[in-house]
Amino acid sequence: MITAPRGMSDILPQESWRWRWLENQFVAICHLFGYRELRLPLIEHTELFQRGVGEATDIVRKEMYTFPDRSDRSLTLRPEITAGVVRAFVQHKLYNSEVMPLKLFTYGSLFRYERPQSGRYRQFNQFDIEVFGSSLPQTDAEIIAVGMAFFQQIGLTDTEVELNTIGCNVCRPQHRQALMAFLQERLPHLCSDCHSRFELNPLRVFDCKNDNCQQALTGIPLMQDYLCQECQDHFAGVKLYLDYHGISYTLNNRLVRGLDYYNRTVFEFFDPQTRAEQGALGGGGRYDPLVAVIGGPEVPGAGFGLGVERILTAISAPKLPEPTCDLFFSTVGKNAEYHAIALMRALRQEGISCEMDLSDRGLRSHMRRADRLQVPLVAILGDNELTEKVVILRNMQTKEQITVAWEDLAAQVLRWLR
Ligand code: AMP
Repeated sequence: MITAPRGMSDILPQESWRWRWLENQFVAICHLFGYRELRLPLIEHTELFQRGVGEATDIVRKEMYTFPDRSDRSLTLRPEITAGVVRAFVQHKLYNSEVMPLKLFTYGSLFRYERPQSGRYRQFNQFDIEVFGSSLPQTDAEIIAVGMAFFQQIGLTDTEVELNTIGCNVCRPQHRQALMAFLQERLPHLCSDCHSRFELNPLRVFDCKNDNCQQALTGIPLMQDYLCQECQDHFAGVKLYLDYHGISYTLNNRLVRGLDYYNRTVFEFFDPQTRAEQGALGGGGRYDPLVAVIGGPEVPGAGFGLGVERILTAISAPKLPEPTCDLFFSTVGKNAEYHAIALMRALRQEGISCEMDLSDRGLRSHMRRADRLQVPLVAILGDNELTEKVVILRNMQTKEQITVAWEDLAAQVLRWLR
């Protein structure tokens, strides 16, 4: 048997309607805040991620699906969304747009070659927003507010925000120096992952979950003690604007993000109920250097990515019933079947969803299908009804059954559905 590749899922009909519902909620929130949609390819040139995510990151070092195409170009299934958004921003010179700052949203699949586990898959999906052209702290706060409004809307009202700043090119070198000196002394007590972090990207030691490392790292130099005045002011601004958005947050001075290009504000969203099992619902931050790194002008940027699978796990009760047809058309005999097609065409023109059997089975199996799919109404058309130009309309909940003339059918169906 051929199965889906490891860590990649099929979304079956019982589940897919929750996806559709969630996507609609996300798009609606983005529109509420004035964000416009961008759709991107799932594959990019490998170089984009090497430059835009960073050669030192786990993503680029170990997790990319990279392959040569038939012309021997190196392509990669996108392991994160921001780099592609920035590539499109630069390629289409959107920085010349009349509506800068530009506020964009997009969503879709990402691919990372990780060990599959709870909340971690090889193909997964993100909702993503990005803002280009504003370095002001109100932008960072608005992005967080979009995320929180979305979580509120879908019933994840306990969602928490953790917030930190990781400084900028001016102040980070001093912190890095202090950090390196501190880590150098403790290297013998650190795990092998922390050894390579020390070599490649020392900030990432904050991510280490190893208990020994955590102990060895007590007293580690924190970025907050090295911030330049501008970064301090910026961070104070973000917090002020969050207050005006009515959003409470927790400061986490050990929060860093996996990608190399972040500066200043970083944040993550957590659902307290599922945090231990699957980690953050999403995260983001500011990435002012990135547009220039990808070959564009110096344009600041900030954004977030939210994990769709993790959000769906966190939403326990579905907010809506699975959608079904309004009506099932049950016919007896060929003539009835032909006529039902025309009747259903008229119903659909009134916005009534309906279907008929495609398997040549009898009335009893029609009823069973209608029941299993929880279709509320069934119309029955046999020889007698055909002669009299009527159908029998059955309400599957109340079991009430009436005879309705063909020309009155749509009106009656709408009355019962209401
Ligand atoms: P990142 O791009 O790594 O900052 O991830 C942003 C969000 O995407 C995370 O908070 C998760 O919700 C989600 N995410 C990241 N990696 C995975 C994965 N392998 N499987 C499922 N969701 C993921």
